[in-house]
Amino acid sequence: MTQKDPIIFLNGHYQGLSNAKISVLDRGFLFGDGVYEVIPVYGGKPLRLIEHLRRLDQSLEGIRMVSPYTDSEWADIFNRLIVGPEDQSIYLQVTRGVAAKRDHAIPAKQISPTVFAMCTPISPIPIMGIKAITVDDIRWKRCDIKAITLLANVLLRQEAVDQGAVEAILIKDDRVIEGAASNIFAVIDGQLVTPPKSKEILPGVTRDLILELAPQAQIDAIERDMHVDELAKATEIWMTSSTREILAVIELDGKQVGNGKPGPVWNRMTSAYQDYKQSLRDAALLSR
Ligand code: PLP
Repeated sequence: MTQKDPIIFLNGHYQGLSNAKISVLDRGFLFGDGVYEVIPVYGGKPLRLIEHLRRLDQSLEGIRMVSPYTDSEWADIFNRLIVGPEDQSIYLQVTRGVAAKRDHAIPAKQISPTVFAMCTPISPIPIMGIKAITVDDIRWKRCDIKAITLLANVLLRQEAVDQGAVEAILIKDDRVIEGAASNIFAVIDGQLVTPPKSKEILPGVTRDLILELAPQAQIDAIERDMHVDELAKATEIWMTSSTREILAVIELDGKQVGNGKPGPVWNRMTSAYQDYKQSLRDAALLSR
């Protein structure tokens, strides 16, 4: 599905990506003053669209903005960007817009937000498991906002890459928080554990779906704080996100996790998750 010059949406217009331009005075560019969403698409249908749009509303509210479009207007925009039935993902970003001068404070006079959306193919997922490292969570105190200001996440992820790992697991005051771009689950004493929602984590849509699917996959799941020492006795550790789904961590800080392969609970959950995705593709096919 890779297109040479994919069509993107920018401020009400559909145009080729190579020609898309924004002002250097855009507050997203100058201050990282904006929020974003990433929505996976299967069989031409966005997965958990409403949940993503509600989280977008919450992120916008967190930075004193409101959504520029209604749910059905967003859905129309996405439908025009989605190409074919292949697995892909929508990236959307809303910034506060272009202000007349560079000033940290929010402009008193209403300015139009800059709205950008594009659709790209989903890259293959490492189903054999990944390496991860633990690092100190150096981010701010509003990690529940899906802000485009991602410098801390960039540096934390790079620390993982520098050490030959794929993801960084963030630790704060000896508590396990989440990944640099993912939520975390661990199987501890046979129970699936994930930290509760708070301002310290992004309320992951994949995380919520996993908790919802757990009973039908015969998995006992609980939301509770996790001490960093518990990671050492976890038989399975997973990192979850919309485009990388459920990644099993098979090596943490150079030590093998479980038997060094994605575990049996991961297998059951992945199968429930894949069935859920397939039901979306099947429904899309029927409605065609
Ligand atoms: N936590 C962080 C910091 C993220 O950046 C992401 C996704 O990018 C997630 C969690 C997972 O969220 P979702 O499952 O909605 O993709």
